[in-house]
Amino acid sequence: MATTLDRTTALRGFRCRACRTLQPADERFVCAECYGPIEPEYDFASFETEELRARIEAGPASLWRYADLLPVAEPASHFPVGWTPLLRANRLGDAIGIDRLFLKDDTRNPSLSFKDRPVALALARALELGLDTLACASTGNLAGAVAAAAARNGLRAFVFVPATTDEGKIAGAAAYGATVVRVRGTYDQVNRLCGRLADEERWGFVNFTLRPYYAEGSKTLLFECAEQLGWRLPDHVVVPVGSGALLTRTATAAAQLRASGLVDGRPSRIHAAQPAGCAPVSDAVLDGYREVRPVRDPLTVARSLAIGTPADGDGSVAVIRASGGSAAAVSDRAVLDSCDLLAHTEGVLVEPAGGVVLATARALALQGAFGPDESVVLYLTGNAYKGVVEAPPLGQPIAADVDEFRAAYAEALA
Ligand SMILES: [Zn+2]
Repeated sequence: MATTLDRTTALRGFRCRACRTLQPADERFVCAECYGPIEPEYDFASFETEELRARIEAGPASLWRYADLLPVAEPASHFPVGWTPLLRANRLGDAIGIDRLFLKDDTRNPSLSFKDRPVALALARALELGLDTLACASTGNLAGAVAAAAARNGLRAFVFVPATTDEGKIAGAAAYGATVVRVRGTYDQVNRLCGRLADEERWGFVNFTLRPYYAEGSKTLLFECAEQLGWRLPDHVVVPVGSGALLTRTATAAAQLRASGLVDGRPSRIHAAQPAGCAPVSDAVLDGYREVRPVRDPLTVARSLAIGTPADGDGSVAVIRASGGSAAAVSDRAVLDSCDLLAHTEGVLVEPAGGVVLATARALALQGAFGPDESVVLYLTGNAYKGVVEAPPLGQPIAADVDEFRAAYAEALA
């Protein structure tokens, strides 16, 4: 069993979010005391700020330039992920009434979505542990990221998606050589099936058994934005919300930049972007910061955000409230119009989740949420060029049932 506390000097271990127990960095992925979620904890006092800044600025043109603030070291075998451009968007800003508008264009990652970031960390940990299989439950983009990372590193991949997932995304994952398992049911049902399999198989399930590492990858978007703004936090960040992991880790990243002395000044206000057909977090924010209520049958053109029971839903609501942020739940019509506007004004082609983010920013701008000199960053997390690969033959969809999965995929499992 790998125990690797010495790999970064600042990593103290993993702290339980529920009972606060600190635990070593071994193979556990939930708290040994209470099964709560665990997160890496770093000793920020161990950093000399200017040395850390110099190390980052001299680092690779990838998310690994922030290795000091990550729980695992860069694997030599992987391709570069992250360090995507932060684009000043004056034409779009003029069109929607935002003075200092920036696009964090994370559609330019190897598999064309930001999910390459969390997967890079999960992959690094899987390789450390000597695992031979990567797996995930996905609404589409994660499937492609896992499949590409597995291919690059010679691992086997199983990706589980709702049968309604966009063909282009499934085709991408299959083209990388992954076994794509289409499940009849919602993402939440796919997720439960994967939870069972994660108990039974010694696979690197990126969003289960590797989750404490996986989730850390999402911090790097804000790290990059701050560095690209000259070591300043953006005044506002508009974040698409599926599971809520990206939004909560955006707040974690901001807190860590401040704790390490890399930035000072005002913290960012963090805003949630969700489609009206699946807006459990935005609805909770707009309804007085109440608890998140599950959405049973998500229905939206933004399928990558169709997660009715977000794992980090209540955490997202708390982060938004603490940061002084807000939220919107936008119509499919507004989402598609926003995708067009972004393409026409800035030459950036995004999947509908990006349209959700822009439509949210437009709604918030109309409400006067952004001051005249304040910087506003939109996270664009997925590329529209995902439907261009021809799909290899796919298996029939299965029920969300372990036995049916084993029967249908006996050959791939052998
Ligand atoms: Zn605990």
